[in-house]
Amino acid sequence: MSDKKPYKLGKCLKDAAPDAKPLITYEIRNSLYLNITTECTNACYFCVRFQTDLVKGYNLHIDYQPTLEEILKAIGDPTRYRSIVFCGYGEPTLRLDIIKAVCQFVKQHGSYVRLVTNGHGNLIHGRNIVPELKGLVDMVDVSLNAENAELYEKICHPLYGPETYEKVKEFIRECVKYIPTVEATVVGVKEINIDKCKEIALELGAQFRFRGLDDVG
Ligand code: SF4
Repeated sequence: MSDKKPYKLGKCLKDAAPDAKPLITYEIRNSLYLNITTECTNACYFCVRFQTDLVKGYNLHIDYQPTLEEILKAIGDPTRYRSIVFCGYGEPTLRLDIIKAVCQFVKQHGSYVRLVTNGHGNLIHGRNIVPELKGLVDMVDVSLNAENAELYEKICHPLYGPETYEKVKEFIRECVKYIPTVEATVVGVKEINIDKCKEIALELGAQFRFRGLDDVG
């Protein structure tokens, strides 16, 4: 992993219900979501992490990195869910080894796996990690977030600086080679040109998805 330190979660602006226990798994629409880190290499101004501890009523503000054993225990029987989704408060690929180990377990049960990522995985690990996900991940959602590098920096404040946007695009291209379904996503912030983002997503060979600001997962 690169020696750059991901942005840790600071104090949230709104507090969670005091009795809501932080969770490493949570259910949305019959899928099980895994919350494996709260750290991220972006600091998007719209990020839910800076607004609230609660996502769909679940407290995701864990203050530790859950172990593989804890995650597998929390998953239990993966066949109970339509899919298993890596989509926490933070960037899952910061914990690539955990992703791969969890996927190996989940795929033994034939379950469907989706990874929601900011697309910094190759920057984080200093190598192309996408081939390592082949056969383990069925679908990847990569946050494209903007139509150019300047806007991306303004909106997402990436730890890796101005080169990040092109690296995210490169990551999407790699995903298209190795992962059955790839979506490039944008969220509904006023600065972006949605049509241009869609054009870029399709040029990269990915599908395109627009998400509302509060549409988590
Ligand atoms: S990439 Fe996702 S988790 Fe990271 S700061 Fe942006 S919205 Fe938050």
